Amino acid sequence: MQSLVQIKKTELDAKRERAAAFISPYYDTRIEGQEVLTLPQYQLIEKKIDRCPHAEPAVYADGEEIGQVKWMCREPACKDHLGRVRDTAAGATSNAGGLSTASPETRSKRKQELFDIRVDEIVRKRVMAEAIKTYKFPFERAHLNEVAKEFFRRIPSDDQRTILEVFGWNEKDATALRMNHSKVLRELAKLDHKRLAQFMMLCSFAHFGANQYKNHQVSQQQVVKLSTERGVNHTLIDAQVRLELAPKKYRASHQAYLETVARGKAAKKPTVFEQPQQEAVERKELEKVAVDSSSEASKTNKAVAQSSPKKAAQKPKRRVVPRTQKVTSI
Ligand SMILES: [Zn+2]
Repeated sequence: MQSLVQIKKTELDAKRERAAAFISPYYDTRIEGQEVLTLPQYQLIEKKIDRCPHAEPAVYADGEEIGQVKWMCREPACKDHLGRVRDTAAGATSNAGGLSTASPETRSKRKQELFDIRVDEIVRKRVMAEAIKTYKFPFERAHLNEVAKEFFRRIPSDDQRTILEVFGWNEKDATALRMNHSKVLRELAKLDHKRLAQFMMLCSFAHFGANQYKNHQVSQQQVVKLSTERGVNHTLIDAQVRLELAPKKYRASHQAYLETVARGKAAKKPTVFEQPQQEAVERKELEKVAVDSSSEASKTNKAVAQSSPKKAAQKPKRRVVPRTQKVTSI
């Protein structure tokens, strides 16, 4: 049995860059010499659609389904899984077992539970309606801290990381802060009024322009709007970062762009690819080269054309020739 588990794990490890985790269906596991996540430390994800950004495959290290691969999430701050475990845990306990086969005692208990759930739902809202009458404006500082803490707590982890980075809390503290809500409250209480106001506004817009997976560009319209409203020069900052990130080859054009923008003038953003010159003529020659060149080279060209037909067609002849040489020399 143990070897089956090892095979599964090795398979998974090979497929993914990170080593796959072991999980146990129990609250406590006796497996030694291996790190095994126990029931409170992860949440299984049954359907593909429920996979969150933290989701990962893992292997059962013991129990009835030993050796089986399951998708799970172990991110404590996950807004979809462990971060909201209180709601789901209650549901899971009540649903377990199937009521048709349950004892009369279990059925009565369940009947009562369902009734109590309906009661709770109405009561909590009525309590809140009465409670809000006791608050006035301006807030007492302690209340404001509480608002900020709860606001922050509900923000998805990747936006939380943005908040802590922008706010200037260092990375080590930031991780602790995302996991520990009473620590957040203590830190917030230390801030002066101005910094607390800044923190809360940051919480309100940290998701603007966020690009979680960074595969495709995401609209930065809200970031631009924020910059306009708050008198921040988005164009200048954008030009500065372009220069910081530009490859050496394109640094001069980016430097020139930044200088133009810094003088308050409009300019066309520099690119990080070679600009096509004499486009029409070059394209004709490019086609000729593609036909004339060796089979390996035309294969390469085809691959380029498939991945990005426009770019490939625009590429001047000079770019293609070195490529061909590179391929044939191998
Ligand atoms: Zn999750």
